Amino acid sequence: MEPELRTWVEISRAQIADNYRAVRELVGPAVEVAAVVKADAYGHGAVEVARVLEAEGARWLAVSTVEEGVALRQAGIGARILVMADNLPFTRQALLDYELTPVVHSLSDLHELDHWLDARNAALPYHLKVDTGMGRLGVLEQASEIATAVLTTRRLRLEGVMSHLASAADYGSPQTDQQIRRFNELLDSLDKAGIRPRFRHLASTIPIAYGRRDAWYDMVRPGHALYGYVSPTRGP
Ligand SMILES: *Cc1c(COP(=O)(O)O)cnc(C)c1O
Repeated sequence: MEPELRTWVEISRAQIADNYRAVRELVGPAVEVAAVVKADAYGHGAVEVARVLEAEGARWLAVSTVEEGVALRQAGIGARILVMADNLPFTRQALLDYELTPVVHSLSDLHELDHWLDARNAALPYHLKVDTGMGRLGVLEQASEIATAVLTTRRLRLEGVMSHLASAADYGSPQTDQQIRRFNELLDSLDKAGIRPRFRHLASTIPIAYGRRDAWYDMVRPGHALYGYVSPTRGP
């Protein structure tokens, strides 16, 4: 039987392209934009959205899982793909086969992945996620330990250092400033150890949309902004 009421959404490719361009123009040419298309591009269709973004010149996309990255490659997407939340041993081969760029969340994962690559005579660029106060995923060790680990990998090449803000929308909270300060301290320590990653990144939609330029660094990671949604800020 036909249902009497049907619901649907219409998704405008042109609007997503516009939103992407707006972010690009806002952050300027010195800041790379990694467009977040995880969770099937927030339900908009990851492959379709990735095609729109590539047509707009997007060089970087970001997903949560290796599986999401593989699906984009199989659909012919050629942009760099950052895999932000996956670190399962059985997905490692796919990182190589599909040229996906992993985010590494712990120094033990870093060593394990490096050994695995060494055994296969393979190499990969990676981004290291550090915990600046969110208490979720991310390396917790001191800067000196991180530096030693980064400098002793044989096959993994550090391309980015990233973190995630816990309460970017809450301007009443001192946590955002604190996290930015910690991130800067860590970057300073790494710099003194001779480690200067090509990309440093911290900002998702809110710090982009509300102009927190001190959180933009060399790369931003907009998700919601691409789909036309910027949540209101909280706090005074
Ligand atoms: C989901 C996600 C983003 C995008 O967040 P939005 O608030 O949708 O812009 C950025 N970075 C990481 C690590 C994420 O998991």
